[in-house]
Amino acid sequence: MTTVLSTHGLFDAPGPGLPEHRATFGPLPGADPVELAAAAELTGRGGAGFPTAVKLRSVADAAVATRRSPVLVGNGAEGEPAAAKDAVLLSRAPHLVLDGLSLVARGLGATDVVLAAPEHLLPGLAARLAERPDGAAVRLHPAAAEFLSGEESALVADIDGDPPLPRSKLVPVRERGVDGRPTLVQNVETLARLALMARGDRETSGRTLVTRRFQRNRTPWTDVLEIPLGAPLGDVLPLDSHVRAVLVGGYHGTWLPAAVARGLPLDRAGLEPVGAALGAGVLAALPADRCGLRETARVVGYLAASSAGQCGPCLNGLPRIAAALAVLARAATPPPQLLTDIWRWCGLLPDRGACRHPDGTVRLVASALGVFAPEVRLHASGRCSATTTRPFLPVPGAVR
Ligand code: SF4
Repeated sequence: MTTVLSTHGLFDAPGPGLPEHRATFGPLPGADPVELAAAAELTGRGGAGFPTAVKLRSVADAAVATRRSPVLVGNGAEGEPAAAKDAVLLSRAPHLVLDGLSLVARGLGATDVVLAAPEHLLPGLAARLAERPDGAAVRLHPAAAEFLSGEESALVADIDGDPPLPRSKLVPVRERGVDGRPTLVQNVETLARLALMARGDRETSGRTLVTRRFQRNRTPWTDVLEIPLGAPLGDVLPLDSHVRAVLVGGYHGTWLPAAVARGLPLDRAGLEPVGAALGAGVLAALPADRCGLRETARVVGYLAASSAGQCGPCLNGLPRIAAALAVLARAATPPPQLLTDIWRWCGLLPDRGACRHPDGTVRLVASALGVFAPEVRLHASGRCSATTTRPFLPVPGAVR
């Protein structure tokens, strides 16, 4: 079950309806989203952390250059299986997201506005749109339930009616996206923060949503929390002696030993030195009774199967790494050279795909081989330190 812990900021309204929203936040004032984002140095909350003002300006410039009105896409696809923050936001505070869409659409002069979200959220969102005078201006799109569905060019392809696969980046989405028009794909949390900034909230750009996964009294627990950027990880995620390691950022993220993770500030400056990033906003505390190698092998198997298989690194590299990790995850002597081969393949993949899927997967694998190195040695001698094989990280069964 996913619960919401924060009662401060994005989740202040007591319910998702328009009356509660208006009573809590008041009307949406007119404001220039570029100026708002630039003044607050707002960065995108979809994973890449790109400066929002730069992205907004680039689409506006492309619209002028091509003389075509831009398309605005609110991205709530959240294909990352371990993440829940965008779904919770769309369920709990949909009108902040819709305000953000309205604000940016006006600022950009976008006449085509799309909100993409998992299919099960669409009926609720349709009800929220029906409450608004500007609701008819937004069309809802059911995002494909796949890992890469939130990648911006894959989402654009999906909206265009093509398979939801990343497209070539030779011509970026900001220049030629939905229907060949300049397109801004903006994460829903970023939109909601712009809606708060338009109301004079100067603090919101310094906060972020995270999805926490941990074990409480031997029971899996997932919740969504709004935190100040820079908060120590150990203050956000329960990290007692029963935690073996922490996954930061999600399935394109980084494993860290619990002792290292505890004091790390949760922002770019704090995480970059250890090779980590907030990414999709996932913080997962691996219980000490699980095997980090086995968990990583399951996730990498899923990631390899989730690729479009249209570039060399995904066609050849990821399946090989996934198969090799599955062997390492067994408590049995692996073939000689297997570990060396994995490291070599990891070195060959980055910067060679049409999207960052191989790079992110390799980041996860490399961090696992480092953090779980003692486990690799233990497995090679036919043993495993885990006391249960029960999976911890969620991996959907159905993939391409
Ligand atoms: S790198 Fe992989 S996931 Fe990305 S477009 Fe190429 S085949 Fe698809």
